[in-house]
Amino acid sequence: MSISLTGKTYVVMGVANKRSIAWGIAQSLDQSGARLIFTYAGERFEKPVRDLVATLDGNHELILPCDVTSDESVETCFATIKEQVGSIDGLAHCIAFAKTEELAGDFSDTSRDGFLLAQNISSYSLTVIAKHAKPLMTEGGSIVALTYIGGERVMPNYNVMGVAKASLEMSVRYLAADLGKHGIRVNAISSGPIRTLSAKGISGFNTILHEIEEKAPLRRNTTPEEVGDTAAFLFSDMSRGITGETIHVDSGYHVL
Ligand code: NAD
Repeated sequence: MSISLTGKTYVVMGVANKRSIAWGIAQSLDQSGARLIFTYAGERFEKPVRDLVATLDGNHELILPCDVTSDESVETCFATIKEQVGSIDGLAHCIAFAKTEELAGDFSDTSRDGFLLAQNISSYSLTVIAKHAKPLMTEGGSIVALTYIGGERVMPNYNVMGVAKASLEMSVRYLAADLGKHGIRVNAISSGPIRTLSAKGISGFNTILHEIEEKAPLRRNTTPEEVGDTAAFLFSDMSRGITGETIHVDSGYHVL
């Protein structure tokens, strides 16, 4: 299944390994013929990301560090993209982090540091990235962020990350309202649970996966490829009338 994105350039932020949802998005975009730029969080991710990117069909050479906790790192990353490719057509924000100890137990025990760290990396990062990406989207563009149903309703152990996702989803709406006049659309995909490096930190994650298999309308779990194909749709002109939206790709679990 693929949409043509030939001639378009997208930044994919947040590939850590082959299980990453960002990697599912990268594969869909690669199959659609898009040119891709990759960013990774820190040195330890560089080699794994380069090795993975080498397996794609397209020749995606620009692979840059971008630590979203540092304004300087984000600025340098997008300045390099501008210098090397000029303009972009969009980006996928697939970035989140919370301390493992904040993803279990009572939400009322959340520490100030843990709360602010989750907000900084998982929510504010979208705004600072949009700020630096906007001047590169000279022909308009599409920004896609990833969220989870724990940002809409209380899910066991998701705690501080649920509050960060609520903030991220509202940021998507404010950014959509702000950037629409520049022809830039901003949307979120609310993915069902997928076993990734980040998901490992959530206490009781296997129980959540089983519940989806038993109860979700489609009676199966979400795959990174399904999220990737929806991202390709949100990057394409097929979705040109959609902005400020959160699309659930979760086997229908959210209707229950
Ligand atoms: P992942 O661990 O593969 O990806 C998370 C990424 O965030 C990693 O690449 C990590 O390097 C990056 N990151 C963390 N701190 C960073 C920093 N300071 N600067 C730059 N990057 C940083 O896990 P994933 O599950 O693929 O997560 C991708 C997105 O999908 C996240 O927003 C996550 O909340 C969301 N999501 C995941 C699930 C799930 O069940 N896995 C469900 C819904 C939404």
